[in-house]
Amino acid sequence: MIIGSHVHFSKEQILGSVKEAVSYGANAFMLYTGAPQNTMRNEINLNYLEEAKKIMLENNISIDNVICHAPYIINLANKEKIDSWNFSISFLKREIKRCETLGIKYIVLHPGSSVKLTKEEGINNIIEALNFVIEDNSKCMILLETMAGKGSECGSSLEEIKQIIDGVNSSNIGVCLDTCHLNDAGYNINNFNEILDEFDRLIGIDKIKCVHINDSKNVLGAHKDRHENLGFGTIGFETLLNVINNDKLKDVPKILETPYVSKNDGDKELAYPPYKFEIEMIKSGVFNNNLIEDIREFYK
Ligand code: FE
Ligand code: FE
Ligand code: ZN
Repeated sequence: MIIGSHVHFSKEQILGSVKEAVSYGANAFMLYTGAPQNTMRNEINLNYLEEAKKIMLENNISIDNVICHAPYIINLANKEKIDSWNFSISFLKREIKRCETLGIKYIVLHPGSSVKLTKEEGINNIIEALNFVIEDNSKCMILLETMAGKGSECGSSLEEIKQIIDGVNSSNIGVCLDTCHLNDAGYNINNFNEILDEFDRLIGIDKIKCVHINDSKNVLGAHKDRHENLGFGTIGFETLLNVINNDKLKDVPKILETPYVSKNDGDKELAYPPYKFEIEMIKSGVFNNNLIEDIREFYK
């Protein structure tokens, strides 16, 4: 089982990320190379990288199972403000270079939102942008994430993902499935094998390089995108466990992006990461009804 969560990338950069992942009992992890909401980035510190590699070796974490996520503000679909579109392209190129420095092989990207443009125009803009960004011989592959279809998001159906991939003049592109997004887009995760068959027919199952494992706060087809802790949403623990244990995706890293557990401590609102507990629950294969209370108790 290749399982982990998204982790921080702060003071000690990837060294801090690895330590955090190990503290959760993970053998995979996903990081943003800075804050997810902005594009301020520090220089990669090679000393931290060397230290991180040692800890990864000691803990059997392969660099193949380390994923980067591009910041949300990159939007390749909307070309109305040409400066922002150009900035998204150049930032994504720089982010890929940072991944190459770190040895990270996959970067997850939200395809983009077309805003006032049509879906079709949005998808064409994404294709045009990706053709500027993707290099055949780059050691880092962009993974298009399947989206919930909130607002004007492109890439909320397998057909749209296929359309983008078909338009890109390179085979150096893959896909990241997200169970919450699939559910919110209208794909019933209870029929996950059928979704995979459909994916294989349209795109080819070998294109799936990462799966985000999240429960959803909303019903099938809600087009919302609000993640929930495993077993506490509309998808359910058993269904998510079946995705994690699916034989066809056994070599693909599974990454949790479930919400932090909040706790009101007098005047301040605290929030704790659920990942150590969710990973334990996944490994045990048994749903823990007390998960939220156990997390609050552990971190108090
Ligand atoms: Fe994402
Ligand atoms: Fe995701
Ligand atoms: Zn999401």
